[in-house]
Amino acid sequence: MPLCWLISEEGNHKPIQLPHLQPVFVGRGPETTIKDKKCSRQQVELRAECNKGYVKVKQLGLNPTSVDSVVVGKGNEVKIKPGQQLRVVNQLYPYTVLFKEDPTGNQSGTKRPREQLSHDNEDQGETQSMKAAKVPEKSWVSASPEECPKASENVGHWSQGLKASMQDPNMQVFKDDKVVVIKDKYPKARHHWLVLPWQSIPSLKALRGEHCDLLKHMQQVGDRMIQQCPDSGSTRFRTGYHAIPSMSHVHLHVISQDFDSPCLKHKKHWNSFTTDYFMESHDVIQMLETNGKVVVKEGTSDMLKLPLRCHVCHKELSTIPALKEHLKSHFPR
Ligand code: AMP
Ligand code: ZN
Repeated sequence: MPLCWLISEEGNHKPIQLPHLQPVFVGRGPETTIKDKKCSRQQVELRAECNKGYVKVKQLGLNPTSVDSVVVGKGNEVKIKPGQQLRVVNQLYPYTVLFKEDPTGNQSGTKRPREQLSHDNEDQGETQSMKAAKVPEKSWVSASPEECPKASENVGHWSQGLKASMQDPNMQVFKDDKVVVIKDKYPKARHHWLVLPWQSIPSLKALRGEHCDLLKHMQQVGDRMIQQCPDSGSTRFRTGYHAIPSMSHVHLHVISQDFDSPCLKHKKHWNSFTTDYFMESHDVIQMLETNGKVVVKEGTSDMLKLPLRCHVCHKELSTIPALKEHLKSHFPR
């Protein structure tokens, strides 16, 4: 029978095993690193049905737990399958579930007793059982490609789409032993690529000092993509990360600054590339080197709501069509 894991999409901690048919309580506490008081210590009860490929999710806490943005409701129970997203409370703390064949051939559910992963009392502090809570020895964050969840195991939800695209030869434009470059499926400019590591790193939050060399390599590969582009002599490019990405799996945007694309439709698209929401690759690397992690400033998400402003001459435009018309003066075809 496969083993089941609960995976923090933000990479806040290693996967938590959900043993077959055993209730596991997830909420505020050291295992999840959730400190939010709105989240109960036993916010949800999870019970994996490893033979059936789903996990039953019961909301125990007062504040809403959701699956794919649909609120479960206190006392209610729903099923979550791979590809769907669980948000533990108030649409925060995203998780997915993953079923993986047990490499040892053991029966799942026999390895970890219930107490090791659950808190029996809402308000108790860190108990021995919590301290003993174990997650797999090997974090997928630092696993080699063969140990990573295969794309096919976790691609159902739209936020997992990059995992499928990076494996798709039709999307790949360059690859080496560390990274792959794909064309952005919904390019926001004439030239828009994504550089992704083969190593499974869910988000910027999961990056640590040891990833610096990988990020520098991603930057170099991005720079090479720009050099080989016939328009690079006349068009400026930027390379960077969205502070709060929508897609899982760390990806470096390499994007020309014309923003001439039918896929650029919304204010949030524009602001995600032209405000500090777009974090320069060099700055991210420097932050990692200095602090050992990437810190996203509070209020970053509000940048998506800023007024539309031309990134070349700083003129404010009232609508996306007006902005697009204006851009033609800077970037004639
Ligand atoms: P973000 O997560 O905000 O950094 O941006 C994700 C990027 O991935 C966007 O520019 C999307 O256009 C792009 N994208 C979304 N789905 C796919 C996909 N399945 N394959 C390739 N690119 C995608
Ligand atoms: Zn302008």
